[in-house]
Amino acid sequence: MFNKKTIKDMDFQGKKALVRVDFNVPLKNGVITDDTRVVAALPTIQYLLAHGAAVILCSHLGRPKTAADLEYSMRPVAEYLGTLVKVPVHFAEDCIGPVAEAAASSLKMGEVLVLENTRFHPEETKNDEGMSRALASLADIFVNDAFGSAHRAHSSTVGVADYLPACAGFLLEKEIEYLDRAIEDPKRPFVAILGGAKISDKIGVIKNLLAKADTILIGGGMANTFLKAKGYEMGDSLVEADAIETAASLIAEGGSKLILPVDMVLADAFDNNALTRIVEAGDVPAGWRCLDIGPKSIALFSELVAGAGTVVWNGPMGVFEMPNFAKGTFEVAKAVAESKAISIIGGGDSASAINQSGLADKISHISTGGGASLEMLEGIILPGLAALADR
Ligand code: AMP
Repeated sequence: MFNKKTIKDMDFQGKKALVRVDFNVPLKNGVITDDTRVVAALPTIQYLLAHGAAVILCSHLGRPKTAADLEYSMRPVAEYLGTLVKVPVHFAEDCIGPVAEAAASSLKMGEVLVLENTRFHPEETKNDEGMSRALASLADIFVNDAFGSAHRAHSSTVGVADYLPACAGFLLEKEIEYLDRAIEDPKRPFVAILGGAKISDKIGVIKNLLAKADTILIGGGMANTFLKAKGYEMGDSLVEADAIETAASLIAEGGSKLILPVDMVLADAFDNNALTRIVEAGDVPAGWRCLDIGPKSIALFSELVAGAGTVVWNGPMGVFEMPNFAKGTFEVAKAVAESKAISIIGGGDSASAINQSGLADKISHISTGGGASLEMLEGIILPGLAALADR
C-alpha cells in the first residue's frame, strides 16, 4: 500500500504548488528527442490546474558544469510543455533567487511556471539547506512527481520537503506501487530479466531478487562475468575481473534460480560489420567476444517469460545499439510484450528497446526511472519518497 500523502489528500485551491518533475529529457540541438517524461508528468500538472493551483515546475536536466552551460537549459522543455497544455506556460531563467521569486509571485492561479535547471546551482546536489529553503519560499505546497530522481537526496527532491507540506504526484505514486507490488507481492512465478554491461552495478539487485523472485535470467555483458566465474575462457569479451568472485558466490547462492545464456553470438571485432558465429556457451576463442545471447537462449528465456505471472526487465541482452547484436534484446522485448504476466520495464535501454519495437502498449508499466527502479529492485527505500508526509 502506498502510505504517503498524495495530491488527492491536499487542498490546492488558490495555492502555489512547487512540483519536482523529472524533465531530464534527451535533447538534440534544443529539440526533445523523447518526450516520455514530459508526457508522464501531465496527469499531475492537469490535476493541480483543475483544482485551482498555480503550478511551479522544477527539474534538473543533464549534468551541467556551470550555470552558463545553456545546452542544459530547461527553456526548450518549457516551450514544449506550452504546446501540450492549454494554459500559459512561463519560464524563469533561474530556479531560486530574485528572478524565480518575481516570476513565482506574479504567477496566476491556473498558470504554469517552469524554473531553470536546478543543477545550475551546485548546492542542489549537496541537498544544501539554503537552496532547499529558497525553493520552498516560492510555493505553499511541495509535490514530488520525479520518480526518476527519487533515488537522489538533493535540495529539490528531499531538502525542500522539510519546509513545505509535502506529498506525492500521480507518477511517483504509480511507479512506486507497480514496483513495490512486483517485489513484495508478485503474482508467481516472478521472473526477473537482468542485462546490461556490468554486474558490479547490479550485485545488490541480484542479491535482493534471489530472495524475492522465482527465476532470474541473466543476459548482456554481465552474463560474460558469470560464465567466466563458471570457469569458461571468455576470449576478448567484456568481463569484470574484480567481480568474478562475487559472480561465483551468486551462482552458488542462486542455484537453479539463476539462469545464464546457453548459447551466444560471437564477433571478431566490436563492430556491427564484424564476422560472427553462434556457439554453445563455453570457451570463447581469443580474438572473439560475446556480443549477444544466441537463439537457444532466446527460446529458453522466452519460454520462461511466457509462463510467468510477473516479469521485471532491466538491461539489454546484448550490444543492441548495433543491429547485428540487437536480436536477443528485441526478441526478449517481444516475449515480455506477448506474455500475459504483469510486465514492468525498468527504464533506460530496455524501455528504449520496447519503444523501438512498437510494443510499449503491451507492457503493464514502463518506468521513467532506470536508476530509481534499480534501487527499488535492490530493496532500498528511495529518499525522495521517504521525505514526503505519511498518510
Ligand atoms: P547498462 O548501462 O549497464 O544497463 O548497460 C547497457 C550497455 O550494455 C549497452 O550500451 C550495451 O551495448 C552494453 N552491452 C550489453 N551486452 C553487452 C556485451 N555482451 N558486451 C559488451 N557490452 C554489452
